[in-house]
Amino acid sequence: MNDIFDVIVIGAGQSGLACGYYLRKTKLNFLLLDANTTCGGAWANNWDKLQLFSAASHSSLPGWQMPTKKNEYPTKKEVISYLCQYENRYSLPIKRTVNIKNVNYRDQLFELEANNGEIYKAKTIIAATGTQSSPYIPKIKGKEIFKGQQLHSSSYKNPNIYKDKSVLVVGEGNSAAQILAQVSKVTSVFWAVKNKPAFLPANVDGKDLFDQATAKYKAKKEGKEYNSKNYNLNSIVMVPNVKEAYERNVYKEYNTIAGFSENHVIWQDGTSTKIDVVIWATGFNFTTNYLRNLVSVNPNGKIETIGTSAKQQSGLWLVGFGQWTGYASATLIGVGRSARKTIKEIQDFLNS
Ligand code: FAD
Repeated sequence: MNDIFDVIVIGAGQSGLACGYYLRKTKLNFLLLDANTTCGGAWANNWDKLQLFSAASHSSLPGWQMPTKKNEYPTKKEVISYLCQYENRYSLPIKRTVNIKNVNYRDQLFELEANNGEIYKAKTIIAATGTQSSPYIPKIKGKEIFKGQQLHSSSYKNPNIYKDKSVLVVGEGNSAAQILAQVSKVTSVFWAVKNKPAFLPANVDGKDLFDQATAKYKAKKEGKEYNSKNYNLNSIVMVPNVKEAYERNVYKEYNTIAGFSENHVIWQDGTSTKIDVVIWATGFNFTTNYLRNLVSVNPNGKIETIGTSAKQQSGLWLVGFGQWTGYASATLIGVGRSARKTIKEIQDFLNS
């Protein structure tokens, strides 16, 4: 690749697409690179019956409202279709199955090395690589000697293969709640958490959660106090399948893990339960390892930024990684704000 781009966006999931939307309004010469073979970002790899916890009206990228269908909460398929149509609607320049392994900075240019040996050059770069490629599983005593099956929620597809098995789901967020709702229909499930899980009241849905989060963000920006009903974005939203499971008392019992033996989970109260499968719904780390030659990550895996701009490397921005790169920026509705601000900063940077 001999071109030198003004901007290269690494990642063409929802965050990269939001950046692309604002870049196409400028005169900058830009390109998006993505490791996946298909459009849809991480959504393409989520489990079959994943439902958004944000209603369609609160899940739109800049410029085009997500079409509302019969059910208020879009399905995984509807989100993927929206994201794929979105990139075509705005004719975003995306090159796929390009996995950036490493980025160096020399002579005021970023050199991006792809796993197929190609080198891409740009004056500025945006990392929009999310978390999906970096599943997080906590270190727990005995995990290595446990003889049963273990998988992360990012590899979970559907419940049927676990029929008649004893399944342990670990985690206290939306993923764990939705997987428990499904697996509990086909077999016995056990639930392990670290902290007490927080459920949003059944009459409060993802919309309210996002409205709260937006109001809190606005108040914070104006330096005002905001006494939100302490809903945080990690609260479990009562999407239909979670609400149904809640009424079946699926979430009534939960416990904290002390460790594993070969075939059992050992609880903190000393009791143990025989387990065949562990599904780790324990979240993700940030996919930024390819930036290791440019910036260091702090102990919680984050990179020092001012807003979305990397402190340790001028010309590098990070979009869509959650609160540390912009309020609710890891959500469809929230990432637009960060993307708009980032592109403005890049224009100023290139003009200076
Ligand atoms: P991703 O979607 O992960 O996209 C990153 C892209 O970067 C991928 O396409 C990947 O191929 C590419 N990439 C990664 N590394 C490289 C590399 N080295 N080189 C090139 N390309 C690379 N958000 C909501 O708004 N509403 C919801 O209801 C909601 N529900 C969720 C439910 C679950 C179970 C999960 C896991 C997340 C949910 N989210 C929701 C959050 C949101 O879907 C994700 O955070 C979203 O995927 C983030 O988008 P992204 O573009 O930042 O990252």
